[in-house]
Amino acid sequence: MKTIGIVGGMSPESTWVYYQAIVQQHLATFNLHTYPRIVVASVSFQAYIDRMNRGDWAEIAAHLQSEFQALANAGADFAVLATNTMHKVLPMLKSPIPIFDIFSAVAYGARQAHVNQVILTGTRFTMQDGFYADGLAARGLRVIVPEAEAQAEIHRMIFEELIRGIVSPQAVKNFDQIVGSLYRENPDSAVLLACTELELLTRARLPAYPFLDTTALHANLAWQLATDQLSWQDVLGNPK
Ligand code: GLU
Repeated sequence: MKTIGIVGGMSPESTWVYYQAIVQQHLATFNLHTYPRIVVASVSFQAYIDRMNRGDWAEIAAHLQSEFQALANAGADFAVLATNTMHKVLPMLKSPIPIFDIFSAVAYGARQAHVNQVILTGTRFTMQDGFYADGLAARGLRVIVPEAEAQAEIHRMIFEELIRGIVSPQAVKNFDQIVGSLYRENPDSAVLLACTELELLTRARLPAYPFLDTTALHANLAWQLATDQLSWQDVLGNPK
């Protein structure tokens, strides 16, 4: 049994979902309190929001690197970065322990769901900056990105509402309209919730599109890795 490290706090609204998902999945499977040890490094998020808005990604990478070091010092065998957006700096990180990346979690979930095209929703960095679509393309997925106005609304609802735990009926309606029209145009796709807080919207009863939820996939696969139900080879596949 491995110790899982979580770099969280980005935002707290999803960090606790990772913790809960890992423990509940273990209890549901084994009915025993033998879940893996979990170490959480929860950052003070505002400084990261400020750095993102300034485009200071190198500074973000340097700070995140020290969080991975803290997890390693606390005995974590591997770690997850519990945010999609921060995967932008993954190539800049030199972690002392393996990082189970969120792109691989999405690709694994898509393979299981027999999906090879996704409608990408997340922060504007995730939708616009190319790193996320590239990460998925390297793993064999085609990516559809919402147009600019829709991106702005999704980004707004994440930072003004969801990271504060607020789920307004208007946000649910707007999100439904955006992904609904893209899904009707691309019915072979799944709607990818590539922001760890977007699952708050699905809890608010969005219509049943095929969703791939990065939070659930990432947490569940981290648990399967920690409990040796899946190997790294199984979950990483062969990215190009
Ligand atoms: N949790 C979000 C994500 O998955 C957004 C917050 C952040 O910028 O890290 O991208």
